[in-house]
This record gives sequence, structure tokens and C-alpha cells, in this order.
Amino acid sequence: MTRVDVIVVGGGFAGMACAAALSSRGYKVTVLESHLGHDPRFRGELIHPRGVRALDALGLKAPLLAAGGVRVRGFAVSPKAGDDLLLLPYVQSWGDGLGIDHHAMVQALRAAAGSRAGVTLRQGQPVTDVIDEDGRVAGVRLRNGEELRAKLVVAADGRQSRVRKALGLEPEQKLLSYTVVATVRGPKLPWRGFGHVFLGAPGPILAYPYGDELIRMCIDVPLDAPKGREPMRRYVREHFADCVPQPLRDAMLESLEQDPFEGCATHSVYTQACAVPGAVLIGDAGGCSHPLTATGMTAAMNDVQVLAEEVGLRGLGEDALKAYQRRRYRFVRARELFTEALYEVFRAHDPGSEALKAGTFDYWRRSRRARDVSMGILSGEHSQPRTFMTEYTRVMGRSALGTWREPSRTRSLLHTSLSRLNRTVERSVSTWMEERQVRLHRLPVKGGDETKSTPVTLSGAARSVA
Ligand SMILES: Cc1cc2nc3c(=O)[nH]c(=O)nc-3n(C[C@H](O)[C@H](O)[C@H](O)COP(=O)(O)OP(=O)(O)OC[C@H]3O[C@@H](n4cnc5c(N)ncnc54)[C@H](O)[C@@H]3O)c2cc1C
Repeated sequence: MTRVDVIVVGGGFAGMACAAALSSRGYKVTVLESHLGHDPRFRGELIHPRGVRALDALGLKAPLLAAGGVRVRGFAVSPKAGDDLLLLPYVQSWGDGLGIDHHAMVQALRAAAGSRAGVTLRQGQPVTDVIDEDGRVAGVRLRNGEELRAKLVVAADGRQSRVRKALGLEPEQKLLSYTVVATVRGPKLPWRGFGHVFLGAPGPILAYPYGDELIRMCIDVPLDAPKGREPMRRYVREHFADCVPQPLRDAMLESLEQDPFEGCATHSVYTQACAVPGAVLIGDAGGCSHPLTATGMTAAMNDVQVLAEEVGLRGLGEDALKAYQRRRYRFVRARELFTEALYEVFRAHDPGSEALKAGTFDYWRRSRRARDVSMGILSGEHSQPRTFMTEYTRVMGRSALGTWREPSRTRSLLHTSLSRLNRTVERSVSTWMEERQVRLHRLPVKGGDETKSTPVTLSGAARSVA
């Protein structure tokens, strides 16, 4: 049986960045990727400056620019059809973001990170189980029956992570909506080099440059929208098209005429633990939010950086994994809170959410500081839940000013915003408690006839021990 320092399960964005980071610390890393080519599902393409800086530190930004990546300078948002776009640029000192075709990006990362000294990339190797030895993960088992051992297993196998399940780290999961993807060549976005969010439809439309003269448009369609290609086309035409300015609108509709157009489901996956003895979760395997705020890969780079720092400092043992778990959630929770709140306000059409949306835009229009702080939370520059809470309270105040003459709107606003604040406080308290958690979750308990090197059952629940 082969033994290496680290096995990374999943050769996608997070897995390849992790292989680069750990190999640069002197570890021998084997990446096991289930697909021979790329994972065909649509995935994220916009990376915020913080993620780009982390890629740059690993020498991975240049290969992405060489593979067709383009610089992104911030966002432009319009509250409803026909309204002016409001510019929310990144603060200059953060640097630029990056837009790039996801498959080209993964290919470039595999080429750059997979060829580094100490990294072995094996494709077409789906992992089916982890090996549990005395309550510690000692390696993985592949579909072909091969066993591979390591001091640390890193699960980077995406939001439906099989390894996470095997470790008993069951998350809270929710299907949120569907994304219909349009690819546009030719017409430009109103603000060159900016991501755009068009609101006013049943869900937000995120449009961004991802290559020379190339624009991707992610249309967020609610779960109750009609199913099937033709009904979906009609639905987008009737309910979304008016929110997109010309000539982009016609190009978007033309792109959707092609068969088959791309699409995928969006989920939120919320985990409370991301480490067991011998294994950790990174990237979407550790959880994800709605893609509206485009933060998945920036958060994945934070995971990679924190993990590399901790194992660089403390080695591959449990102390490093505990420290990783604690630091990771500090970053992740602020992002989850912001994304949930923004998605709720940007897509709902009840009077309370409409009032909050108006208040948010008013707040942004009046103050540059407000725009900078919101962009800081959105792009992961600020990661304290209390920063989010302060900003949310200010937006509430601004929204209330706009509704005080209409008691029914004020009531609805209070109902919507107080229930959000309530959830924010709950999450902040649980984050505070998680940060103080100095133990790791244990692997699922196995049946009586326990032998060494037993694969962990896929349905077990995590049991925590003091
Ligand atoms: C519609 C949509 C739009 C998005 N837009 C953005 C955006 O603009 N910006 C952003 O930052 N994020 C965005 N995201 C999120 C982003 O795509 C993810 O955060 C990112 O892809 C996570 O990378 P990952 O490597 O953790 O997981 P994945 O990209 O899912 O990669 C997982 C890899 O593991 C492999 N794998 C799976 N199971 C196994 C197994 N058992 N054995 C071996 N290998 C396995 C897969 O083949 C794949 O290569 C978006 C997501 C969606 C759904």
C-alpha cells in the first residue's frame, strides 16, 4: 500500500490550490480526481481580489491570466429595470478581481500545480471511502479497490462531498434556486471590467466578463419556475429580459435559444465542523452559499491559506486541524450571513424586502464609506460578523426613514429585518462558541466487529467527544 504525506480528494479549484500550497511547505501531496477531464458542471468564474492575492502568493495568478483570465474592478448594480447602475468598485489597495472560464481555470491550475515538485495528480480516480484506523482517518479507498494512506486527508470534493459524508460531518443543506447560464459574445457590459447585478426580476442576474469580449450571465430562477427547456426560455423572456439593458438583452435571449443551454442547481450547505482526526474539509466540501456574491473561490483560498499556515507551523497532527477549524469558521460565517441577507433582499418582492432594498441603495448612494465597507464584506476583506451587523442596522435605519409615512410598510420592514437580525445574532453567538471549541469531531462509530483499516460507513453521524 502506497503512503504519502497528504491526499487531496478532488482536483478542482480548491484541491489544486491546496496541492500547490502544501507542496510549497515541503509536503508530498497526491491529488485524486474522479474525472479524466474536467467536471462538466457549471461552476464559478469570478474571483475577488482577496482570492486573487492568495493565488498570486502561490504563483497561480499568472497561469490564470495566461489562460484567458481578465481583470475585474468591482460591481455595478441596478435596483430595477431601467434604473441607473450604481458602481461599487473594489478599494484600490485590494487589487483587482479576476474573471475566467471555469474549465480553463481548472485546466491551468492542474497544469501549474500538478507539475510542481512533490505533487502527483491522478485523474479518473474516484474516492469511495476513507480508511478509519483507531478513530483516525488513515487514508482513502478508490473505486478500483486500491487503498492509499497518508498522514492527512483533505476533502476538496465539492458541495456534494462524498468524503464529508464518510466522515459523518452531515451538513444542513437547502436547494435554493436554479441558475440558467447565458454566454454572450460581442455586446459589452455597460461598465467595462465590472461585474453587473441586474435586479427587479424574480431572481438576480449576475453578468461578468470572463475573457476577451466574452460575457457570462447567470440568471437565478426560483424553484417554482416551469420546468423544461422551452417553458424555461419563455419564463426568462417574460420575467427577466426587461431588467437587462440592450443590446445585452437580445444577446442573452439569443444565447438561450441554443440547445442545450447550461444550467445548474444552487444550494446552501452549512457545516458546523470541518475537521476530524486525520482529515479536513476545504472549499465547497466545507460548505457553500448562494453564488450571488461570487465568494466560493475566495473562501476556498482562505481555507487553503489557513490550512497551509497551520500545518506549516504545527505539522500534520491534530493541533493544526483544530486551529484550522477555529480560524476557518471566523471567515466563513460573515460571508454566509451577508450572502443570505443580500439574496433575501435582492430577490423577494414583499413590502419589507422592497423597503430594505430601497434603503440599501439609498445607503450606498449617499456614502462612499458604506460602499467600501459593503464591498469589503462581500469580497472577504472584512470577515467579522459584527461588521455585517453594524452595517445591517444602518441599512435598517435608512430603510425605516423611507417607510415612516406608511405604517403597513414599516411593520413589514420591521418583521423582515428583525427576523434577519435575530438569525445574525444566533449565528454570531454560535460562531463565537465554535471558535472556542478546542476539540475535533470523531469519526462515526462502527459496528461491534471492529477491525483495523475498516472503511467508515457512509451514513454514520458524527459523534463528538470532549
Ligand atoms: C451557478 C454557480 C455560480 C458560481 N459562481 C461563483 C463565482 O462567480 N465566484 C466564486 O467564487 N464562486 C462561485 N461559485 C462557487 C464555486 O463554483 C465553488 O465555490 C468552487 O467551484 C469550489 O471549488 P471546489 O474545488 O471546492 O469544488 P468543485 O469545484 O466542485 O470541485 C470538486 C472536484 O472534486 C472532484 N470530485 C468530486 N467527488 C470526488 C470523488 N469522490 N473522488 C475524487 N474526486 C472527486 C470533482 O470532479 C471536482 O473536480 C458558483 C457556484 C455555482 C453553482
